[in-house]
Amino acid sequence: ATPTSIMVGTGKGAEAGILIKGGEALEGAHKLDTVVLDKTGTLTRGKPELTDVVATDGLPDGELLRLVASAERGSEHPLGEAIVRGAKERGVGLADAGEEFEAVAGGGVRATVDGRRVLVGNRRFLDEEGISEDGLVPMGEKLAASGKTPMLVAVDGRPVGLVAVADVVREESAEAVRRLHSLGLEVAMLTGDNRRTAEAVARELGIDRVLAEVRPGDKADEVRRLQAEGKRVAMVGDGINDAPALAQADVGVAIGTGADVAMEAADLTLVGGDVRGVARAVALSKATVRNIK
Ligand code: ADP
Ligand code: MG
Repeated sequence: ATPTSIMVGTGKGAEAGILIKGGEALEGAHKLDTVVLDKTGTLTRGKPELTDVVATDGLPDGELLRLVASAERGSEHPLGEAIVRGAKERGVGLADAGEEFEAVAGGGVRATVDGRRVLVGNRRFLDEEGISEDGLVPMGEKLAASGKTPMLVAVDGRPVGLVAVADVVREESAEAVRRLHSLGLEVAMLTGDNRRTAEAVARELGIDRVLAEVRPGDKADEVRRLQAEGKRVAMVGDGINDAPALAQADVGVAIGTGADVAMEAADLTLVGGDVRGVARAVALSKATVRNIK
């Protein structure tokens, strides 16, 4: 690689809003065969909105939402924030911050609200808490089939309903996937979200492979597994949880509007947050390598 061609490539990248950390990152991108995209915040806006409140145990919907939103008020997770915002927009008054609150990464929250034990989260989380939530599952799957993220709710050990949020797919995501396909790359989605929700979003975007219900600490392992299959992998993500996977990938790509640690772990940063930049970076890498050879 001549320093000049690298410099030209890096300069062209910068013009297109792609920050490239050195020549190795630029050259590496032409050998890729698989691009793994984080769902939340990368393919979607990462600003979910509350869409459904379904009480299944005779509790009024408003009371269910009040308990759930009060439990989530200590949450810093976008899902929790969406629920709290949605409750406020619907004029639901929240209880005082619970004396007990715990957030379980990739699972949900546990809180005491007005002396009642409230759990909000996915199936795995409720299972681990010893709740038999089977009765909630069909409704959850129905919500997930339309791309919404369902969260199951238990109060004092009883399953009492669900709430769901939806995260809007970014306008440019489908085109980003098309461009990656036209460069001959396989496209996968990696998420902690529900499998059905992820599959619905993947179908909408034409994504080939879905890695769902992955715990926050296991994202890097999923990348390692693909590499063990012989794939040369780019990982694209925005969150703190994505940083180890970005570092593990052959090329890590951070969304510039995301967490600083993601950008530190990445080889490339898409400054404006436009995922179409991934295809542009691969094309740029190919052009650079052609010039070198
Ligand atoms: P992602 O990979 O999409 O960023 P996370 O790993 O943060 O997802 O979360 C995975 C899943 O854990 C969510 O889809 C949800 O089911 C559950 N979860 C996480 N945080 C919360 C919360 N505050 N309230 C309810 N459920 C939650
Ligand atoms: Mg994310």
